[in-house]
Amino acid sequence: LASRDFHPQDTVVTVGDVQIGGGKVQIIAGPCAVEGEEQILTAARLAKAAGASILRGGAYKPRTSPYSFQGMEEEGLKLLARARAETGLPVATEVVDPRSLELVAEYADILQIGARNMQNFLLLKEVARAGKPVILKRGMSATVEEWLLAAEYILSAGNFQVILCERGIRTFETSTRNTLDLNAVALARQLSHLPILVDPSHGTGKWKLVTPMALAGLAAGADGLMIEMHPNPSEAVSDGPQSLTPENFAHLVEQVRKLAIAL
Ligand code: PEP
Ligand code: MN
Repeated sequence: LASRDFHPQDTVVTVGDVQIGGGKVQIIAGPCAVEGEEQILTAARLAKAAGASILRGGAYKPRTSPYSFQGMEEEGLKLLARARAETGLPVATEVVDPRSLELVAEYADILQIGARNMQNFLLLKEVARAGKPVILKRGMSATVEEWLLAAEYILSAGNFQVILCERGIRTFETSTRNTLDLNAVALARQLSHLPILVDPSHGTGKWKLVTPMALAGLAAGADGLMIEMHPNPSEAVSDGPQSLTPENFAHLVEQVRKLAIAL
């Protein structure tokens, strides 16, 4: 079902008045995690002012260490809803398990499956039934085939609103957090009709590499970007080193506009 052989035209996923796939570049932006009211409202206002069309922010965070901040949970979801009410931006947020799915789906416009859960097949089947668009991040050690088969779990459960997201894979390289796999973007675009995002924030782990790799991702054929932006990255509780300041995010959007015209 994910294959172009089955469905030759590009799938367009619609969220409110935002269309992902089928032409216009969409930018999802916001902090790694929702940390508080002022933080997420400020991020949402600045993201919108700069040209983002969807707000991101994790309320449930799948952290490497159990001792790290795990997210604000329902309180974070409520703050995302407040940011949406104020800015009009639809909200994308991660769902980490079937237990919290119903609650997350009450607040979110787009449900995000994180890299660590790409092959959590039970969660994929459950998330499909929530009836909301799903961003499916590529697992950090998943092949393109495994990624598309994970998408197949959601599609075969009856939900065709699936957006792929390349967020970097593990390689031998240690000077960047992950290696953004642009081959996978070009390949997935040929093999599948599903829209594709690129996440150069997790893909590089370094804010200085985010803008060049965002542009490269679009040149490789991505339909949009997912960008971590924080009002004050040096104080972020998670992923500060890869988060853009609002000024740098505005600069990225400007560069994207220029590239989009050139493409
Ligand atoms: C995130 O988007 O903040 C995140 C946890 O991403 P990933 O699942 O790609 O690591
Ligand atoms: Mn993050």
